[in-house]
Amino acid sequence: MNILLLGSGGREHGLAWKLAQSRLLENGGKLYAAPGNPGIADHAELVALDATDHGATIAFCEAHHVGLVVIGPEAPLVDGLGDSLRGAGFAVFGPNRLPAQLEGSKGFTKDLCARAKIPTGGYERVSNEADGLAAVRRFGAPVVIKADGLAAGKGVTVAMDMATAEDAIREIFAGRFGAAGAEAVVEEFLDGEEASFFALTDGSTILPFASAQDHKRVGEGDTGPNTGGMGAYSPARVLTPALAAEAMTRIIAPTVKTLADEGMAYSGVLFLGLMLTADGPKLIEYNCRFGDPECQVMLMRLESDLGELLLACAENRLASVEPPRFSDDVALTVVMAGAGYPGEPKKGGRINGIPAAEAGGAKVFHAGTKLGIDGVLTANGGRVLNVTARGATVSEAQARAYAAVDAIQAPDLFCRRDIGWREVAREAK
Ligand code: ATP
Repeated sequence: MNILLLGSGGREHGLAWKLAQSRLLENGGKLYAAPGNPGIADHAELVALDATDHGATIAFCEAHHVGLVVIGPEAPLVDGLGDSLRGAGFAVFGPNRLPAQLEGSKGFTKDLCARAKIPTGGYERVSNEADGLAAVRRFGAPVVIKADGLAAGKGVTVAMDMATAEDAIREIFAGRFGAAGAEAVVEEFLDGEEASFFALTDGSTILPFASAQDHKRVGEGDTGPNTGGMGAYSPARVLTPALAAEAMTRIIAPTVKTLADEGMAYSGVLFLGLMLTADGPKLIEYNCRFGDPECQVMLMRLESDLGELLLACAENRLASVEPPRFSDDVALTVVMAGAGYPGEPKKGGRINGIPAAEAGGAKVFHAGTKLGIDGVLTANGGRVLNVTARGATVSEAQARAYAAVDAIQAPDLFCRRDIGWREVAREAK
């Protein structure tokens, strides 16, 4: 069978690496990736295809007999590429446009939680500055303000005081986030440790996938501005089997059932951002795709055939497959980012030493790299490399990942030196 993978980040390099090992590609099957990146090119044939052009994507799938389309990032899902491809008869991993609103509209998700009685923070939806200011005054600080739509992680303000909360409201309604900020959600502040949990669903069967914990802030000790993620590890032991079971029954199952009952069946991976509060796990957010870089660490531990799992999901056959199996190891990834990130990153600096970094068993996923015609690999994005290693503990995986980081020569890149610190501290006890 031929597979088309859409996307170009570290997440898609992880997916390509694992899909390339799938039995689905036996007997001459090909893996295509669009647009891909130089790391993905080791596993797939790169094609210049614009995922916003649904007609061209369908035409490619027809011409190349694609049996499975895997959509990596959220934007094409929220844009309805899944609907277009399914309408043309293709098997797609990733939800349709309406259920993808779980990620595309924070207000949609909060209303769904209210209808399905899913544990989450109290909230108000507001659509103008005056209502927003009145809402934050009703909640009082600390309070959380979120632009409704996709804002690449920049649309959320956790305000510890009223002035910050009011400024966040004013900024949203002054148009800083464009259409994504036409509405906002004012939300109760939740206190606790965060963890991510992933499940595959075809709209009726739900299979737990794995847990992870990421590091959103740019600075060590989780300080400084938010980023797309500076590192992650899996599993997140803080999400105990009992807490994961609670998240399955109280959050994921009612979400999947409510969406199906309302004619918006969700098919793909559900990514829950959880706050582990004193009252149990509460939903912070849903995403409608794998996390980046959480995907890379989960896939390092995955022992099942990823292609078969994703195809079974796309074909509504999850009830008939074995649940995903993972090694007991921990996997940890360190993001190497361009100087200046999450502001304007420095691009163009040379990257050397990846083979040496991988010699000890680490895996270096490309997130934002470029291969020149001279064969020179350079930095070409905010997040550039995901240096990933396994170990029996977080401490061991961390030591191996940083040994690999130190084998890479890339003067314009930086990384946090403390990925996994919470768990490393717990393991030291
Ligand atoms: P964007 O839509 O801009 O891409 P996002 O989807 O990353 O943002 P969230 O995950 O909802 O936005 O929030 C980002 C971060 O803000 C969370 O990871 C969490 O640390 C913090 N946060 C969000 N909601 C709450 C809350 N109710 N209480 C405490 N912290 C919160």
